[in-house]
Amino acid sequence: MILQFGKRMLTEPDKRLLWKFAYNFGYKGMRSVQKYKKRLKQGVHFPPFLFISIINSCQLRCQGCWVDVESPREMIDLDQMNRIINDAKAHGNSYFGILGGEPFMHPQLIQILEAHPDCYFQIFTNGQMITEHLASELRRVGNATPLISIEGGEIVSDERRGRLNVLNRTLAGLENCRKHKLIVGVATSVCQTNYDLVSEKWLRRLIDMGVHYAWFHTYRVVGPKPAAELALTPDQVVNIRRFIVEMRAKLPIAIVDAYWDDKGEALCPMATGVSHHIGPSGAVEPCPIIQFAKENVSDERGIFDVMSNSAFLKDFRETAAKTTRGCIVLERPDIVAKLVLKHNATDTTQRGTALAEMQALESRTSQHLPGREIPEEQWMYRFAKKHWFFGFGAYT
Ligand code: SF4
Repeated sequence: MILQFGKRMLTEPDKRLLWKFAYNFGYKGMRSVQKYKKRLKQGVHFPPFLFISIINSCQLRCQGCWVDVESPREMIDLDQMNRIINDAKAHGNSYFGILGGEPFMHPQLIQILEAHPDCYFQIFTNGQMITEHLASELRRVGNATPLISIEGGEIVSDERRGRLNVLNRTLAGLENCRKHKLIVGVATSVCQTNYDLVSEKWLRRLIDMGVHYAWFHTYRVVGPKPAAELALTPDQVVNIRRFIVEMRAKLPIAIVDAYWDDKGEALCPMATGVSHHIGPSGAVEPCPIIQFAKENVSDERGIFDVMSNSAFLKDFRETAAKTTRGCIVLERPDIVAKLVLKHNATDTTQRGTALAEMQALESRTSQHLPGREIPEEQWMYRFAKKHWFFGFGAYT
């Protein structure tokens, strides 16, 4: 499997892009986690992985989306992005997750990528705006991988994403990535209506379409119109974990997950402090679905000082880690609401109803299912997670 995957990576993407990925994301990414571990020993929390939603607008209307995609446009512009990235870089970071809305609606996205050839960007996109020209631009800049979301077959995609002909348009974007030899991933937010995508057949289809990595999220019931009927059962979550572990050892495609360590124990990237989020208004938030903040990137101190000195983020990390190894938003939305009130944090949405939404959520299960842990079987994933993706002492 490793040899086959290695062969794919050596023959499919542009060699220069592979080098950028290996060096900027692989080597420097590992180094940034080492620096993070060192900082932790000194009691300084600044995440090695920043997720930045650069724009709120999107052309789709997904079920359960928490972003104000129809509200007036908010964006983090090139200057602000340069400031954030330069400050993070100065502390060893090299990876940035770029989210939206739809990031490709941001008119300066290519300029942002171009300004930081020493970094690596993962762009969470619906793929529909990736024309041949855009794909060739991504190849030219060389330091970004599109992570294209596909939520099911034609009917399910249209239903999940609130528009018509969604799948064909997305597949056209994916094909443009393949033609221009990009490193490309496909993400799926698994829920009741697309659970059938958790299958070997689907992964084999992705391999045939030139996809190099898949990322399975589990659907989170949040936002102004939370679709509770789409939530997975605990058995389904365990099945996804088992499927990921098995397929990692079987198929020549990388599989990403962000919710389990090498022993199969659950973790929350926000609680461990390995990542925090910046919203389209510049709000500094614990994670993308916790839309509350005390700080903003416009603060003159810079993102390192702001995040590492935030009492709000600290309280969130510590309270979440004490509460559960899983997702505090799913399991204890009441505690999230209390923390927001305790810190008198600002609702960072334009709709202004985030607190009421949080208070209305029912408690449910998440990825933390004690006694049902499934350890990594494939040695490379086990090794990588053991050294660079674990609890970082949060769960003591
Ligand atoms: S709080 Fe939930 S959604 Fe946010 S990072 Fe943690 S597990 Fe993920």
